Amino acid sequence: LPGTVGTGSTQVATLGVMGGGQLGRMFVHAAQRMGFFTAVLDPDPQSPAGRVSHHHVQTAYDDATGLAHLSQLCDAITTEFENVPALSLQTLAAQRPVAPGAQAVAVAQNRIEEKSHFVASGVLCAPYAVIENAEHLATLDTALLPGILKTARMGYDGKGQVRVANAAELAAAWEDLKRVPCVLEKMLPLKAECSVLLARGWDGQIVAYPAQRNVHVDGILAVTHAYVGNLPAALAARALAAAQSIARQIDYVGVLCVEFFVVDDGSPEGDLIVNEIAPRPHNSGHYTMDACSHSQFDLQVYSLAGLALPELRQHSPAIMLNLLGDVWQDAAGKPRTPDWQAVLALPGTHLHLYGKLAARPGRKMGHLNITAGDIPSLLATTRQVAELLG
Ligand code: ADP
Ligand code: MG
Repeated sequence: LPGTVGTGSTQVATLGVMGGGQLGRMFVHAAQRMGFFTAVLDPDPQSPAGRVSHHHVQTAYDDATGLAHLSQLCDAITTEFENVPALSLQTLAAQRPVAPGAQAVAVAQNRIEEKSHFVASGVLCAPYAVIENAEHLATLDTALLPGILKTARMGYDGKGQVRVANAAELAAAWEDLKRVPCVLEKMLPLKAECSVLLARGWDGQIVAYPAQRNVHVDGILAVTHAYVGNLPAALAARALAAAQSIARQIDYVGVLCVEFFVVDDGSPEGDLIVNEIAPRPHNSGHYTMDACSHSQFDLQVYSLAGLALPELRQHSPAIMLNLLGDVWQDAAGKPRTPDWQAVLALPGTHLHLYGKLAARPGRKMGHLNITAGDIPSLLATTRQVAELLG
């Protein structure tokens, strides 16, 4: 990485991030802990990251003045969400080092390109078809049904997805989605879901955490299990190799999350299928903040700043529980107040809240990491927490 980023320089470097959500906030915290100045570009004056950063550029993500201001402030720039316009990253990259690059982010933004990239990486994904026009619909291979219709762009937390049982439902669902480009994926019998988080440096060096097992509820991550035995060892090793292959194939720089399905194929372990990538730290890596030598946000700082990537060590088995708005609000919209005193008094509970002012159902407000000396104590504490949070 050119310039003054890193230690030993008299000038303090500034690291920038596109997006001011919770992932940006945790990146800013990690960068500041290492003495960097930070800058966030996000139009929202109340954005979780903007409020804790040294600089907050409050413009749209494609605003030329805002982008020029950000590159002027920063020595290097990253992103915290995949839907930042790829063109904006390109504009920034003409001025400053940007990681991940526009091309990698563009791939993650579009399920059609993402799937072609998986094929090019030699990694198996779910059987799918591209649906961009009525002809595609008419000539569809019915073996893909029942399936899930997913918009090619802008889907997250299960949004922009419709489960369809037959051709008629598929046609209706595509109408409902306003006939935007989509992929239809075959509905797979899932045994489990898992993900791998890795960081890749400018020099191609890769470090990775062991695969974690994820439980989703209503398309949103609910729980991450991060401990030995959470997945069959051979499966975890295959996930790691697949994630590395995907990162290399696209010459990725920065933190990358690769999400997988473990599909029931009749074998005791199940088969591994890649689902999607996130060109940034990921909700399923939040446990690393309390359970590992370095968090995924530390890795984002290291990789962006061109520092040698550290050897990773997980020092405690861990479980992460997502805290959605529902924790503060019941289904009828009535406020709830869990007994936080009791939760925090339990051994190994670490509360992270993102500074969001309004709790809405399904909105990610924070997470609770639980660590312990051994797995039975970890599971026991998790049961107690789950009871207290309801
Ligand atoms: P998002 O971008 O919203 O995270 P995903 O494609 O990861 O979208 O889908 C969200 C969840 O829906 C997955 O984590 C999984 O639980 C379920 N899902 C998605 N695709 C399939 C599929 N082909 N077969 C079975 N379940 C699926
Ligand atoms: Mg997903």
